Amino acid sequence: MEFHGCDKIYVLRIGHRPGRDRRITTHVALVARAFGAHGFILGDVVDQRVVESLSKVLKTWGGMMRIEQGVDSKKYVVEWRKRGGAVVHLTMYGVHVDKVISELRSLGKDILVVVGAEKVPPFFYTESDYNVAIGNQPHSEVAALAVFLDRYYMGSELYSTFEGAKLVIEPSHRGKKVVRVA
Ligand code: SAM
Repeated sequence: MEFHGCDKIYVLRIGHRPGRDRRITTHVALVARAFGAHGFILGDVVDQRVVESLSKVLKTWGGMMRIEQGVDSKKYVVEWRKRGGAVVHLTMYGVHVDKVISELRSLGKDILVVVGAEKVPPFFYTESDYNVAIGNQPHSEVAALAVFLDRYYMGSELYSTFEGAKLVIEPSHRGKKVVRVA
């Protein structure tokens, strides 16, 4: 764990089951990157395939992210808070995102966003600084993370350019225009 200054967002994926959750966890990681997070942490397990997929996208399409895996998720949360960061657990049982998002933006703290899989241990509900709902209906960690980051960055993340990209898309109404820039 390493803080790079204020207002960075890291995503901690908990409850990943290698094999079963590989695709969805990879999507969590790709959304984290594309929607402006600065780090992706796979808690409690090592899954090289997830990390390789994310690394491959970073290599081709650019961006800098800290990647960690196999960390103890509970210890990570405790350490994160000890170091002055805030922990935001995304859950349908939480407080509506609209109620807290401006407060989160003005904390001046790095934020660890925790997203779960099937069952989330009570620890994450009690030890997080915020339990935040992206609406109070069950949906998906991928959708929840995307909406959270979009609300946090107020849509600006969709205009980001990614440092070190080898390929860049030239937007077009039809077809696929991709330019090699490195
Ligand atoms: N019962 C679970 C819960 O506590 O939200 C739903 C499990 S869902 C398959 C997996 C993950 O998606 C959850 O751990 C949570 O991080 C996220 N999620 C699903 N719906 C959400 C919502 N409405 N708001 C925030 N996060 C949500």
